[in-house]
Amino acid sequence: MKKDITIVGSGLVGSLCSLYMTSRGHNVRIFEKRKDLRSEIISAGKSINLALSERGLTALKKVGVHEEVMKIAIPMYRRIMHDEKGILSEQEYGNPGQSIYSVSRAELNALMMELAEKKGAKLEFNQLCKDVNFDNSSVTFQNTITNKEKTIDADIVIGADGALSEVRNKMVEKIKHEFKLHKIGHSYKELLIPSGENGTHVINKNALHIWPRGEFMLIALANLDGSFTCTLFAPTTGDNSFGNLNTKEEVETYFNQVYPDFTPLVPNLFEQWEENPTSSLGIVRTYPWHVKDNAILVGDSAHATVPFYGQGMNAGFEDCRVLDELLDRYEDDLLSCFKEYSKIRKPNGDGVQELSMQNYVVMRDKTSDPRFLLQKKIEQKFANSYPGKWIPLYSMVSFTNISYSDAWEVGMKQEKMMEEIMKTPNIEKEWESDEIMLKMLSLV
Ligand SMILES: Cc1cc2nc3c(=O)[nH]c(=O)nc-3n(C[C@H](O)[C@H](O)[C@H](O)COP(=O)(O)OP(=O)(O)OC[C@H]3O[C@@H](n4cnc5c(N)ncnc54)[C@H](O)[C@@H]3O)c2cc1C
Repeated sequence: MKKDITIVGSGLVGSLCSLYMTSRGHNVRIFEKRKDLRSEIISAGKSINLALSERGLTALKKVGVHEEVMKIAIPMYRRIMHDEKGILSEQEYGNPGQSIYSVSRAELNALMMELAEKKGAKLEFNQLCKDVNFDNSSVTFQNTITNKEKTIDADIVIGADGALSEVRNKMVEKIKHEFKLHKIGHSYKELLIPSGENGTHVINKNALHIWPRGEFMLIALANLDGSFTCTLFAPTTGDNSFGNLNTKEEVETYFNQVYPDFTPLVPNLFEQWEENPTSSLGIVRTYPWHVKDNAILVGDSAHATVPFYGQGMNAGFEDCRVLDELLDRYEDDLLSCFKEYSKIRKPNGDGVQELSMQNYVVMRDKTSDPRFLLQKKIEQKFANSYPGKWIPLYSMVSFTNISYSDAWEVGMKQEKMMEEIMKTPNIEKEWESDEIMLKMLSLV
C-alpha cells in the first residue's frame, strides 16, 4: 500500500533510503536542517572524503545508482605506509584488482539528493526537526530562517538525522529506548595536501596513505581535483595530543619530527591547523531502532561509530538495503517488519563498532609492524590456496556482504589461530612452506 513517508535528514543515508522508498511507490518528503548544499560551490579540495566499499556499493547497485556514483570515485588498491624517515611500504587490501573507493562526501551527498529528487522525493531545507509524535507519526519542524513551526503528518517517520539524531532523542525521551554515547579519548582534524601542477596528485592516488605512529596517526585519501584530504587522529589531551599543539612552533615542530615527508606537501600547514576544527569521536548505541509500525532509524542515528574501518556510511547504506528486503518479505505487516529490522540490524551496528575500534589499533600501530604485515601475507596466501576455508577479516568487511557481526566473530577466531601460527620458529623464512599451510588447515 502506498504510504506517506517523512525522512528526517537528507545526508547520505536519508537520501539513499528515499530512493528505496520511492522505488516502492511511496510518497517521500525529506526535511533537512541545513541549507541545500548543492547551492554552494564546493571549493576545490575542501570537501571531506570517505571510503566506499562493497556493502555500500551493493546497496547503491540494488537501487540502480552505483554507476553514477562510480563516476566520482577513485579506486584505492592498497595501503601505503609512511614511516618516520619517510620510507614507504605497501600492503594490498585484497587480491589484485580488488579496491575500496575514495569519494568526496559533499559530491556524493549532492549526487544522492539529486537522484532522490529525480525519483520523486520532495526535499525541504532549513527545516529542523524539533519533535516527533509517535502516536500519529507526525513530525514538527522549525524553519531555521523564519523560526516558524509546522507539523507534518505521515504514515512512517524515518530518522536519518545522524549521530545527534533528534528522532532518536525523542524515542529515548518518550518511549524510554536504551541509549549510550561513548566518547573515545581521541579527536581528529582535517588537513589538505593541495594538487600539484595541472591538478596532478603529488603522491599515489590509488592508495590510502597512512602515517602510523602508535598512539596516533595521519591518513590521506585522494580527491578527483588532485588534492588529498588528510585526517590527523590523536589523543585529545596528554602526550602528543591536540591539547599540546597550539602555537605555530609547537605544530610545525611536531609535524617536522613526526611526519617529515608530509610537511613539505602542505605549504600552509599552520593556517589550516588554526582554521579547521578539532572534532571529537564517539559511538552511539540505542535499542530498539523502531517504534511500533510508524518510526524507524537508519544510519548514524542508530549506530554512529568511530571512522577507523571506513564503514559508517557503508553500514548505513546496508541498513537501507536490508530494510528493503524485509519490506519485500513482510509486505503490509510493517510491525513485524520493523521489529525484525531492529532485531537483525542491532548486532550489526554493534559489530561495525567493535570492528572500527579494533581497526584503530591496527591502523595506527600494527601497519608499521613487520610481523603483522607478514601475518596478513600468510592469511592471503592461505585464503587463495583454500578459498572456502578463509576470508581475511579486512576482506570480509570491505569486499563482501557478510554481516558485520559474523565478520567480527570469525575474525576474532582467526586472530587466535594466527597467534599460534606466528609462534612457529623461523616463521619469517618458513611462511611460504607447505607445512605452514597444512598447519593452518589443521586449525580451521
Ligand atoms: C572523520 C570521519 C571519517 C569518516 N570516514 C568514513 C569512511 O571512510 N567510510 C564510511 O563508510 N564512513 C565514514 N565515516 C562515517 C560517515 O560519515 C557516516 O557514517 C555517514 O555520514 C552517516 O550518514 P547519515 O546520513 O546517517 O548521517 P549524516 O551524514 O550525519 O547526515 C544526517 C543529516 O541529518 C541532518 N540533521 C541532523 N539533525 C537534524 C534535525 N534535527 N532536523 C533535520 N535534519 C537534521 C544533518 O544536517 C545531515 O544532513 C566517517 C566519519 C567521520 C567523522
